[in-house]
Amino acid sequence: MTDELTPRGVHTCRGCGADGLVSVLDLGRQPLSNEMALTTDEPSPTFPLHLRVCPTCGLGQIGEYVLPDRIFGAEYPYLSSVSTSWLAHAGEYTRHMTEELGLAEGDLVMEVASNDGYLLTQMRDSGMRVVGIEPAGMVAEIARSRGVETVNEFFGLAVAEQVAQTYGRPRLIAANNVMAHVPDLQDFLAGMSHLCDDDTVVTVENPSFVTQMLETQFDTIYHEHFCYLSAHAVAAATAGVGLELTRVEKLTTHGGSNRYWLTRTGTREAHPSVAETIAEELEAGLLTQELWDDFATRSRAVIQGLRTWLDEQHAAGRTVAGYGAAAKGNTLMNAAGVRHDDLVLVVDGSEAKQGKFLPGSHVPVAAPSDLAAAAPDDVLVLPWNIAPEIGRLVGELVPGATSWIAVPEMRKIG
Ligand SMILES: [Zn+2]
Repeated sequence: MTDELTPRGVHTCRGCGADGLVSVLDLGRQPLSNEMALTTDEPSPTFPLHLRVCPTCGLGQIGEYVLPDRIFGAEYPYLSSVSTSWLAHAGEYTRHMTEELGLAEGDLVMEVASNDGYLLTQMRDSGMRVVGIEPAGMVAEIARSRGVETVNEFFGLAVAEQVAQTYGRPRLIAANNVMAHVPDLQDFLAGMSHLCDDDTVVTVENPSFVTQMLETQFDTIYHEHFCYLSAHAVAAATAGVGLELTRVEKLTTHGGSNRYWLTRTGTREAHPSVAETIAEELEAGLLTQELWDDFATRSRAVIQGLRTWLDEQHAAGRTVAGYGAAAKGNTLMNAAGVRHDDLVLVVDGSEAKQGKFLPGSHVPVAAPSDLAAAAPDDVLVLPWNIAPEIGRLVGELVPGATSWIAVPEMRKIG
């Protein structure tokens, strides 16, 4: 196929600019994970989903086949506030960064991809001035209705210049789970650099690509995740824009994330965690064919494992439902060839998804309150990163059902 929009992510590294990306896992053509179907027979357009890695810096990446507007446009349905564990994480972040940076009342805090204001409302309640930048129109509107000043734009250098002029330069810029979503990483980082003063700290939270490979989290690969980050790759990508990686904090969110601290080059001494994390990543095989091949082999085994499990449940006359119409679930189910009759329904707390059908598989999406009426014997929990939270919900809604996760292998939870 030659239908990629740019060579980035297919031939050229988004981070360090090197050529010669190596194929790691080709998941074939897949629908866009958040492009829900409105009817059972509405076809889902498909695009290549192929993870490649840069052998120079270790950045994992996939190619671009549609413009970002199509993925993160007005109807983008992901609301951060739907997850209680993610809200709690935002609360911890607010306390931690306030203490670390000695943030005082009136200090300016910005968030890129501020979603529905899940974090900035908490920062504002702690006395900060807050500004969010969020490309998805619907969620930006929700943030505004909560009183969070929100710029409805895709972030990059041009937007950073406007924002700096209007609001000034912040003490803290949060960029949680957004850098994976950025097709033009260099423009994004140049924007971050432009917003930084000598005392600004940028924090970037993202799943660790090394952990994703070691834990077989291949279902985090989907079209809106253009980049798969590690400390090694972040250090390489920031070097050219006047930013420096000066600390790495390890987090348990999203199955194992890192929080990268970026500061203007030369303004802050690097914490030992930077060298330590990079050494661990290299030791784990980030830049080795061996780890890439092993990850691909285990991923194919998970895909086959789900298919076999579903066939066994059907043969035994058991009714299977899903919980969580998350993007990662779609990668898993479409890779495993799940059809609309494999699951009676998938329930999800996001009203924007209810009443629609999952892309590709066309499994209907309903509200969590509809789960009991479907009387499932088994519930497949698709967002495994919040499996304990969902397992408890399933236990309350359908006390007799068994909850399962498929990644990193089929197993019961709760
Ligand atoms: Zn690279």
